[in-house]
Amino acid sequence: MKTIVVGSGMAGIIAGLRAYSHGSDVVMISQGRSATSLSSGVVDVFGYFRGEEIKSPLEGIKRLEEENEVHPYAILGAERIKESIDFFINISKKVGFPFRGSIDRNIHIATQFGTVKSTCLAYDRIYSGRVERWKDRRVDITGKSERNFRPAFVVESLRILLPKLGFNAGVFHDGEDCDIILKPLKQISKGESSCALSLLGDGSILEKKLLEYIKSLGIRHIKDRILKADIEKGEIKTLTGKRQYTGDNFIIASGDYIGGGLNSFGESIIHLDIYRIKDKPVRKIPFPVKGHPYSKNGVIVDENLNPFYREKRISNLRIAGSLLGGYDYCTEKSGLGVAIATGYSAGDME
Ligand SMILES: Cc1cc2nc3c(=O)[nH]c(=O)nc-3n(C[C@H](O)[C@H](O)[C@H](O)COP(=O)(O)OP(=O)(O)OC[C@H]3O[C@@H](n4cnc5c(N)ncnc54)[C@H](O)[C@@H]3O)c2cc1C
Repeated sequence: MKTIVVGSGMAGIIAGLRAYSHGSDVVMISQGRSATSLSSGVVDVFGYFRGEEIKSPLEGIKRLEEENEVHPYAILGAERIKESIDFFINISKKVGFPFRGSIDRNIHIATQFGTVKSTCLAYDRIYSGRVERWKDRRVDITGKSERNFRPAFVVESLRILLPKLGFNAGVFHDGEDCDIILKPLKQISKGESSCALSLLGDGSILEKKLLEYIKSLGIRHIKDRILKADIEKGEIKTLTGKRQYTGDNFIIASGDYIGGGLNSFGESIIHLDIYRIKDKPVRKIPFPVKGHPYSKNGVIVDENLNPFYREKRISNLRIAGSLLGGYDYCTEKSGLGVAIATGYSAGDME
């Protein structure tokens, strides 16, 4: 059985690893840029439901199922999602970049910008420094001021934010007698034993580690840009970029507008049927707090993650990650969570 995976962001990687674990010969193709590498690399599974912060991603997922929402999580169901998270945690340990956390509860972490972010899984040292542990303690922010990191600003911002969120911590800059010392991750990676702030762009470390692991397993990863597909009798026969690729099963995990999977005309390789929100474009506020209607644009799939081309199902193709429609990872905080859950299920193809 040969599986062709397009995309090497989180969804493509997890799909490839899952298909490999079933004994499939996996070939991964990607053109390069991914949203995964731009992210802060902490795994948001489900942080907000209809604008309200939720304590447990699992509870939020169950509500989506009950309310029959058009959402990739509602298609997969809680049990599969839980399985996929365990799969990811296991892989993270194997690649030597261990993640901690549980789908039963969200945690809060401080970021390099002095904000507090609700998330679910985090790299070991970031997880150890979760804000829940700061309660009634003294926390010292250390590290040199840099272009994207101003410790004094972080301190001022956290002093305002933390009481609002119910965490009574004293936050100081470069003080003594500290219980917890926070440093940017690049200092941590030199082997210091303090915990870390979440940094935008650290997703690139996670992606790199996962891709190294893929390589170590002997999975082929080819740099190419897929431009079209030949479809016959409801099945993909070949994908074409600089070269042609044939296989038994195909997975497209080419991301959204950032990764390149979507463009202003729709899905960029096959022109698959897509879910488009019908609201009028928001002109006055480009980034409204409730989310931009276009964020939910993406490919429509059935319960097996099979997409449709001109309303006809493609039976040997599955879609994973942010190419999928019906959800808005920015406002609900579900980006890498959806990529892991759908990648895992896409890799389960027979
Ligand atoms: C700035 C930023 C910060 C974020 N922070 C977080 C965070 O902290 N936590 C979180 O959980 N989520 C976060 N997200 C969301 C999260 O990063 C994405 O939802 C997730 O990475 C999507 O993964 P993906 O694999 O579906 O797509 P991508 O990671 O975008 O991967 C798409 C892949 O497809 C390839 N590709 C595209 N078109 C083609 C083609 N035609 N041929 C070959 N290859 C192709 C690309 O090269 C790439 O390898 C953030 C997003 C952004 C933009």
